[in-house]
Amino acid sequence: MNDSIQKKELQLTDERWQAIIHNDAAFDHQFLYGVRTTGIFCRPSCKSRPPKKENVRIFGSATQAIYETFRPCKRCKPNGAQIPTEEWVDQITQYIDKHYVNTITLEALSDQFHGSPYHLQRTFKRIKGVTPVEYVQRKRINAAKAYLLETNKSLDQIALAIGFSSTSYFVTLFKKMTKQTPTHFRRFYMSMPNIEDDKEDSLKLQYTRNKGS
Ligand SMILES: [Zn+2]
Repeated sequence: MNDSIQKKELQLTDERWQAIIHNDAAFDHQFLYGVRTTGIFCRPSCKSRPPKKENVRIFGSATQAIYETFRPCKRCKPNGAQIPTEEWVDQITQYIDKHYVNTITLEALSDQFHGSPYHLQRTFKRIKGVTPVEYVQRKRINAAKAYLLETNKSLDQIALAIGFSSTSYFVTLFKKMTKQTPTHFRRFYMSMPNIEDDKEDSLKLQYTRNKGS
């Protein structure tokens, strides 16, 4: 069975490459293409950003692409079936949980998860209650709280560790989200031993979970 599926692999001819970069729907029923770096496969007509040619694999069917462990693109639905929305948002959330200390833009998520920025933002917010960018900020501020309570790191060091290139932006955002500055937050909890224990435990848990993911 495996052999017969594998034999169907097609070559990336110049004609097929042209169809991919020009989103040519005339080829939609002739082949599908996968992108090695993202693990996602698409119809030729898909409007997602053109992949690098060397990362493209050509498939004769969705079955073959899935057999090769590629996932169907959410945008062009090359297997004719939609990924359930919750599952899609779950994948995006897991990605953010792992990468929130890096730069994450809506555009980058949109590329990675194959949905227009508008659709992605709207869907994410409908299910999670916050936009992807707000979700990233929340992750970072939670991590910052743990750093403030558990380490002696300076604000500069903490800002850097949680993905902010500017300390003043970190302080502004922290203040906006917690109604106090990072320095006040640290001093307040350090000066209240009883409360501190509880808070620290729950924060530590949260922080450990972040690090472990
Ligand atoms: Zn696609």
